[in-house]
Amino acid sequence: MKRPLPTATSQSFFDAAAAGRLSFPRCPGCGAWQSYPRPYCPVCLGDDLELVAIAGTGTVHAATVVHRAIVAAFAEQIPYIHALVDLDEGIRVASMIIDCPPEVVRPGLPVAAVIDLPPDETDGPSTPLILFRPRL
Ligand SMILES: [Zn+2]
Repeated sequence: MKRPLPTATSQSFFDAAAAGRLSFPRCPGCGAWQSYPRPYCPVCLGDDLELVAIAGTGTVHAATVVHRAIVAAFAEQIPYIHALVDLDEGIRVASMIIDCPPEVVRPGLPVAAVIDLPPDETDGPSTPLILFRPRL
């Protein structure tokens, strides 16, 4: 699977994940969590977002099973479960559900984050992915 490349804004997010630390940006000015690395807080326009550790647990908000490769980067994953996950901290993130039969995924399913490291660094810079699997 082709993975996203880090940017100046997202480098620290991916570095933390590569080191096994689950963390998401939060605005110290207003406390708003961000669902992905960004340079400014969309609530108060603060530009000093900080990475804060999260528990990595949450529930599925919505999910769909993708059977057709709309994005070539995910063609090898077909079929896969694309989902919106509500983290316990109140962050809604888009990701994939792994280790889960498609007929099992449903809104409210408890999930836990998994850091999926790039398999081979020799192909150039790459990033870990934050995926989710059902929580027993
Ligand atoms: Zn803010």
